[in-house]
Amino acid sequence: MQIIHPISGMQRTADALRASGRRIGFVPTMGYLHEGHASLIRHARKQSNEVIVSIFVNPAQFGPGEDYQAYPRDLDRDLRLIRETGGDIVFIPSAEEMYPPGFATSVHVEGLTEGLCGASRPGHFRGVTTVVAKLLTAVKPHLAVFGQKDAQQALVIRRMVRDLNLDAEVLIAPTVREPDGLAMSSRNIYLSPEERIEAGGLYQALRLARKMVQAGEREAPKIIQKMRDLLSERPSARIDYISIVDTQGLKPMDRLTGEVLVAVAVRFGRARLIDNVILNL
Ligand code: AMP
Repeated sequence: MQIIHPISGMQRTADALRASGRRIGFVPTMGYLHEGHASLIRHARKQSNEVIVSIFVNPAQFGPGEDYQAYPRDLDRDLRLIRETGGDIVFIPSAEEMYPPGFATSVHVEGLTEGLCGASRPGHFRGVTTVVAKLLTAVKPHLAVFGQKDAQQALVIRRMVRDLNLDAEVLIAPTVREPDGLAMSSRNIYLSPEERIEAGGLYQALRLARKMVQAGEREAPKIIQKMRDLLSERPSARIDYISIVDTQGLKPMDRLTGEVLVAVAVRFGRARLIDNVILNL
């Protein structure tokens, strides 16, 4: 397994791989990897010859007072997981090279970034789209794999790739969960034992929404209220949002039709966790 730090080195390697006819699959991450990331690597593995994983904790997508400094890091463990899962190249750019003095350019996707996490984390998606655009021009992948856990992020990136004619296919892979349903996340490490138990409520709330829809409920406010009730029984839960939106424009719906995204963001102690399910009506 090869480790590459300089952006120009990554570009030269990508050019050589492309010239020799290799199909490049790419998994961008912020490190502190878990089974969710491993599953993306396996998806990339299946559909490409060369799997490149990037590790970069992107300062531009953290707001003031968010957890950029505290974000968990363990490079040795990450490299082991990538090697064991079948990654070929690990791209680890430095923040200094990614954001040199005078850095002044950003990529912004309008509309899709306004609601959900965009409302409570101003500037977050601009940071995400900017770094993903930069990573795509460094790694030059044929395929880039993202997780459904970050549903809004995946849709925003897909839109950016389409709008800017970036030459990569975007694959969105399913969310990997703990046995109690909690979506795997690097931030789960922040949870105290009590908060960890209560955080299972996130997926219980999403399952409740699915059950209500299956039983015929179509009024979004009623579903959201029941989800709110369920989460309010967890003393450490602070709800950021519970939203039901259409999967095309991410606009809130009152009456559910078509394909809908039920998305939640809840703080348990220091951890702000997000999760979602897609329902087809
Ligand atoms: P992160 O390192 O948290 O920025 O995530 C890197 C990629 O892994 C993103 O595309 C995430 O959506 C994806 N990811 C994170 N957690 C999970 C999970 N539990 N299941 C599937 N994909 C995930």
